[in-house]
Amino acid sequence: AGMVALAFWLAIFFAVLSYRQKQNSLLNRLQNALQSGELISFYQPIINVDSGEMYGAEALIRWVKKDGSIISPGYFIDELESSSLITPVTLCLIRQVLDNLSGILNQDPELKISVNIVPEHLEHPHLLDALESMAAQGEQVQSLSLEITERQPIYDIASAKIQIARIKALGLTLKLDDAGTGYGGISYLQEFDFDYIKIDKMFVDTLHFDKASSALDAQILMAGHLNLPLIAEGVETKKQALELLQRGVHLQQGYLFAKPMPLDDFICFYQEATKP
Ligand code: C2E
Ligand code: CA
Ligand code: CA
Ligand code: CA
Repeated sequence: AGMVALAFWLAIFFAVLSYRQKQNSLLNRLQNALQSGELISFYQPIINVDSGEMYGAEALIRWVKKDGSIISPGYFIDELESSSLITPVTLCLIRQVLDNLSGILNQDPELKISVNIVPEHLEHPHLLDALESMAAQGEQVQSLSLEITERQPIYDIASAKIQIARIKALGLTLKLDDAGTGYGGISYLQEFDFDYIKIDKMFVDTLHFDKASSALDAQILMAGHLNLPLIAEGVETKKQALELLQRGVHLQQGYLFAKPMPLDDFICFYQEATKP
């Protein structure tokens, strides 16, 4: 009888434990964070190093907790991207960009703000439905640029082409992010109508050494053939910036210029950068 009672209480103990774990799962906490407005867009400037002007910025998600602590996407982005929560989160970020920056984008319609999307958004119409209805309400969606990584494959190529055509019809641009690190590579560039290629930090890091990676040079050569401008990310040193500039890569993003920052700091940075 003792054994039966023990088994009974153990079963209850584990049931409660697993229930609590579910309640506290990362995805659950992210859902709550979205609802309570804790998923916030930070902004990292992208500079045209040739002219010294600002080309635009990348919107990067941060989880800003009630106590003020800031959690980087490295901790939660995989979980988010592999759940359906990624769509409301992406829309929430786009909403923030348009609300936060409407003043600046009105006054400076050339400025482009990048938002990161996932293959899901090219395979299903939800994101484009939302963007089209925002455009119909007179929102400046044409100031947005969508970045898609090669991290996960695009399975449904036919649907992706349809969504990309809708992206272009709205006047948005499309960037291949983290080029050369994932699945698609050259085939993506041939298949889909990208406007820019982003060089991943991994390749920029090779410019620390005197002999730069041939992988970087191959990317630059390929972009030249396709007539696509490049944007380098993760530029941390003047040496890297100059080496990239010498290779014709004018658009650069990285700690050398600015780290991702909250809205208020970004607006100050923008005003400082555009002072006559
Ligand atoms: P990513 O799209 O490749 O973004 C560039 C990352 O490099 C950012 O990391 C940025 O803060 C970091 N970075 C930029 N310049 C430098 C530099 O000079 N040095 C160093 N060490 N790092 C630099 P972050 O913000 O932590 O984002 C990581 C990744 O999370 C992003 O990589 C992107 O793939 C993903 N991510 C961020 N925000 C979103 C989002 O809203 N939606 C989705 N789907 N993914 C996002
Ligand atoms: Ca990106
Ligand atoms: Ca990138
Ligand atoms: Ca990257």
